[in-house]
Amino acid sequence: MQQEQLTALDREIVWHPYSAIGADLPIYAVESAQGVRLRLCDGRELIDGMSSWWCAIHGYNHPQMNTALQRQMASMSHVMFGGLTHQPAVELAEKLVAITPEPLHSVFFADSGSVSVEVAMKMAIQYWHAKGKREKQRFLALRHGYHGDTFGAMSVCDPITGMHSLFSETLAQQFFVESPACRFGKPCTAEDIAPLADSLEQNHEKIAALILEPIVQGAGGMRFYSADYLRQARALCDKYGVLLILDEIATGFGRTGKLFACEHAGISPDILCLGKSLTGGYMTLAATLTTREVSRTISQGDPGLFMHGPTFMANPLACSAALASLQLLFESPWQENIARLQQGLEQGLAPCRNFKHVAEVRVLGAIGVVEMKEPVNMKEIQSRFVEAGVWVRPFGKLVYLMPPFIMEQEDLATLTRAVVEVVRSTSPS
Ligand SMILES: *Cc1c(COP(=O)(O)O)cnc(C)c1O
Repeated sequence: MQQEQLTALDREIVWHPYSAIGADLPIYAVESAQGVRLRLCDGRELIDGMSSWWCAIHGYNHPQMNTALQRQMASMSHVMFGGLTHQPAVELAEKLVAITPEPLHSVFFADSGSVSVEVAMKMAIQYWHAKGKREKQRFLALRHGYHGDTFGAMSVCDPITGMHSLFSETLAQQFFVESPACRFGKPCTAEDIAPLADSLEQNHEKIAALILEPIVQGAGGMRFYSADYLRQARALCDKYGVLLILDEIATGFGRTGKLFACEHAGISPDILCLGKSLTGGYMTLAATLTTREVSRTISQGDPGLFMHGPTFMANPLACSAALASLQLLFESPWQENIARLQQGLEQGLAPCRNFKHVAEVRVLGAIGVVEMKEPVNMKEIQSRFVEAGVWVRPFGKLVYLMPPFIMEQEDLATLTRAVVEVVRSTSPS
């Protein structure tokens, strides 16, 4: 199929994330991807600033990843997980328990980040049910949070950007508090924590768990908040008998400079969601981890089972990809890579601070954000980035970068230069 045929047919019959069929927006056909570069069907090469939405931390088409998958495929690609088990799943579970904070101990494999959030929410409800607290069925979440697109996950996403009004009759009603005002690196005052403390005090008898993205609120606004807020949130959950679910689907596996973002605060959750870069961007896989206390209580209570079980649970190919990705991560000087990327992003994006239409530039680990005062004109800005030889996908007011960890300084400089130039010359929409 010719490239024009491909994109024309795509436009006519294929949905893309958060898109309209037949939309008048550019769409680019990718032929292959290698290292930090995407190769388009028209021969152009783009330096990847997105890691395919946080995932491709080792870059694309990595020989060690490819070998691991080929080896696994030669023995088995999939078997059902009901009543059967296999080495990739057990080895990966053992590894995840070892590298995540104590006392996380039990692992549930899910097929996507959203499903791992559904699983976390069901675990929290079943835990309290088993303890005879059947009125604890609701959740407390932060404004500007993002936890996925399925109904349970959606119910704890920001009510405005998550368009809760559209689904109002179907969507569970949860409790929300303002997004933390205290920035990363700053203390969290009594005033900063008050909304969370007040809501817990008033509603804790109905709340099964507080769910939040530690340190970085991702798709809901790319905000970096105080580790002290997270520490106080943990203490409040303990005080009021509410479980803490941390959604590290975006932040997990090094992106913020720590292996897990909750390490910035030195706390651990009762339930942890992992996904995205878990398989280095090769396959879809997610995991929900919980403590021995939660898994035992659920398993020994009524109905004595955890009520979830996806068809493709613990897919062996996906588990092998995750094992290979973790091996690559730990063999690499990943902390140095993140520190190097952080410095490159800070230096490279700094000129954007001088532009009148830029509200703020912020960097944490390998995440660089240019927040505009007005939403960008997607149609214009997307093609400008491609013309500049980079793949950057802004949303709303945010132009942001989260490059693969392996990106060299020279490519990073090209990437940030393109952002500076495109941001400089783009008119607000
Ligand atoms: C992407 C994301 C999800 C949803 O993961 P999917 O794999 O897209 O279902 C949930 N929470 C956070 C923080 C995410 O970044």
